[in-house]
Amino acid sequence: MHIYPEASAVVRDLSPDDPVILNRPHAAARAARFFAQKFPGTSMYAVKANPSPDLLQILWANGITHFDVASIAEVRLVRSTVPDATLCFMHPVKTARAIAEAYHQHGVRTFSLDTMEELEKIVAATADENGTQADDLNLLVRLRVSSDYSELSLASKFGIDLADAAPLLQATRQHCDALGICFHVGSQAMTPFAYVQALERVRAAIAEAAVTVDIVDVGGGFPSVYPGMEPPPLEDYFGVIHRHFENLPISYSAELWCEPGRALCAEYSSLIVRVEKRRGDELYINDGAYGALFDAAHVAWRFPVRALEDDLVEGEADFAFYGPTCDDADFMKGPFMLPGDIQAGDYIEIGMLGAYGAAMKTAFNGFGTAEAVHVADEPMESLYRGDRADPRVSDNVVSLR
Ligand SMILES: *Cc1c(COP(=O)(O)O)cnc(C)c1O
Repeated sequence: MHIYPEASAVVRDLSPDDPVILNRPHAAARAARFFAQKFPGTSMYAVKANPSPDLLQILWANGITHFDVASIAEVRLVRSTVPDATLCFMHPVKTARAIAEAYHQHGVRTFSLDTMEELEKIVAATADENGTQADDLNLLVRLRVSSDYSELSLASKFGIDLADAAPLLQATRQHCDALGICFHVGSQAMTPFAYVQALERVRAAIAEAAVTVDIVDVGGGFPSVYPGMEPPPLEDYFGVIHRHFENLPISYSAELWCEPGRALCAEYSSLIVRVEKRRGDELYINDGAYGALFDAAHVAWRFPVRALEDDLVEGEADFAFYGPTCDDADFMKGPFMLPGDIQAGDYIEIGMLGAYGAAMKTAFNGFGTAEAVHVADEPMESLYRGDRADPRVSDNVVSLR
């Protein structure tokens, strides 16, 4: 496969009418090695952040052996792409058929749940044809925790309340080989303290239920870098998590797991878009809310941008974007900083779109086609290059919202 040095070489070569996804295998490989070497436990990749088979193989080749899957389609995809991977089915609401296929055909032994009904479903769907129950299940009870320290909440949909957790933990203990507790602090957790409050809830749940816990899974939420969102170093998160894990009332052999999505793949991709029209400080570009820029539109996420033209002379100004569909909601307020004389026909690179970018694309309104190419340059930001200013020691610390 041809590898371009950088985005502007792609524009020169292709003058693309459609958006182009730029993938950086070296950046995903670096993130995978970082987690594999430095997280004090097992890191499983949350496939929903970016299910691209190329990416799954890069992560596998660089030390990620476990994959967090949430649907039977993800189970099949990962099993066929990285046949020897360990799959963990971490969606707390599954169909009986999906559980049975995952267990009996794809070797999945790890499942999460947050209700008695789901426990009964898992026990029934994994029994053999004589009705004998499986004795090799790892079952993780999902606990509801606060999303107050994260940019995107995952607190309202899943997870059992601490007050109700003891009976479910005790019942689950009866049906599994290994019992775990998992949670998700919300995506893009801007401080390690997010995990402290969650692990305190885990401690309370274990004490209340008086059960032996074999696995503590701290979920996803590990951040990446975006405009206005400069997190502390990931080592700080790992250190805090490890310390609080070690202090839990669990056996010496208990395992620590995590489920990073964003942190493993945000740096993997950027996107080339073209300005099709300018109206004042609004740029009409050819990707948007129904494409790889879902988060830019729906939760006003800010991504770094740069113009790929060398004839622009004006200083930077704030722009908002419209996407290509005919829907008013296809709007991204930004602000995105670009040269003041940018105009129709100019190309822009939008960075840090490896997570929840291409994965969100739809074909709405006939848009959504995008070629993918490889580039060799660095992502616009990196948590792994070692050259980023540590926000703890800079004097304009970004607030930890
Ligand atoms: C989405 C999700 C993840 C990954 O979250 P990130 O914030 O991308 O790290 C991990 N675990 C579960 C159960 C999820 O739903």
